[in-house]
Amino acid sequence: MDIGIDLGTANTLLYARGQGIVLNEPSVVAIKEGTRGALAVGSEAKETIGRTPGSITAIRPLKDGVISDFEAAEEMIRAFVRRAVPGRRPRTRMVVCVPSGVTPVERRAIVQAAQRAGARQVQLIEEPMAAAIGAGLPVAEARGSMVVDIGGGTAEVAVISLGGIVTSQSLRVGGDRFDAAVTDHVRRAHSLLIGERTAEDIKVAIGSAGPVGDGFEARTFTVRGREKVGGLPKTVELTVAEIRTALDEPVEAVISAVRATLEECPPELSGDVMEHGIVLTGGGALLPGLAARMSEATGIPVRIADDPLDSVALGCGKCVDDFDALERLSPSGV
Ligand code: ADP
Ligand code: MG
Repeated sequence: MDIGIDLGTANTLLYARGQGIVLNEPSVVAIKEGTRGALAVGSEAKETIGRTPGSITAIRPLKDGVISDFEAAEEMIRAFVRRAVPGRRPRTRMVVCVPSGVTPVERRAIVQAAQRAGARQVQLIEEPMAAAIGAGLPVAEARGSMVVDIGGGTAEVAVISLGGIVTSQSLRVGGDRFDAAVTDHVRRAHSLLIGERTAEDIKVAIGSAGPVGDGFEARTFTVRGREKVGGLPKTVELTVAEIRTALDEPVEAVISAVRATLEECPPELSGDVMEHGIVLTGGGALLPGLAARMSEATGIPVRIADDPLDSVALGCGKCVDDFDALERLSPSGV
């Protein structure tokens, strides 16, 4: 059995050869103090964030694009593989996609975690490459393609040509920072304290990076939280305009990284990007108005991949389907 794993900071997806995507769960593990193993993983564990009693901790092992908790990461991979591919898994080979900012130590830890989850052979691939393959970009051609993958903890910007990453930037700004910007705004402007789950709900419901259209502009979101002073429950109605302003800084950070990557790019390749456009992947690509704003800021057409949340897993899957070719390409895998 060959498996592809998109080990994302927010979501983990598993692809099984011949079957497609077989699992899609938040990258969260709930651990109970003094016990071994995970109490819950995935969406069940995400439900507990901000609601756990003292003895239970909900951990996001890959928060901020680095592995903050090796043990939890290993538990998570093992539990997901067991769930998605039950029974015996003889001679399992895995292609694991990791954020490009991970250190060599973290890479080794991921390989080890995959081996303990039953992999006989492990190949790591870089996230922007998997994203580009999954989004259907012609990565093997002598033509520059730009992909911008905006995940939970990081945004990765890369120009790819002839099967390799020519230039790239990985910044620790992604959906989590967008959520934090919402939390800060609600605290400052309305003296209201909200949890990270609520902030994400607000962002997904009424967040945007630029004008979207009249129906959207009129939307509001009623949020319940705790008053900063006094501590009592309080309700506030939020508008699209104020959340857009709150998101401005992290959105601008992503756009600056795109500009910087274009400036570093050899002229032939940036010419290709100008002609063929930029492709957005990752959950952050779904933020309304972002593609248009990026296009305006760079003067280059920007399109959102067909299934932006699945691009990396699908790219991983293509490599799984062609594991032997990948091995020939990068014998450095483990
Ligand atoms: P990762 O690869 O790091 O696991 P994903 O590509 O799965 O991340 O994207 C997860 C991020 O996308 C989360 O921060 C989530 O809030 C955000 N997201 C998902 N849907 C939307 C949406 N419709 N609008 C804005 N952000 C979204
Ligand atoms: Mg991702």
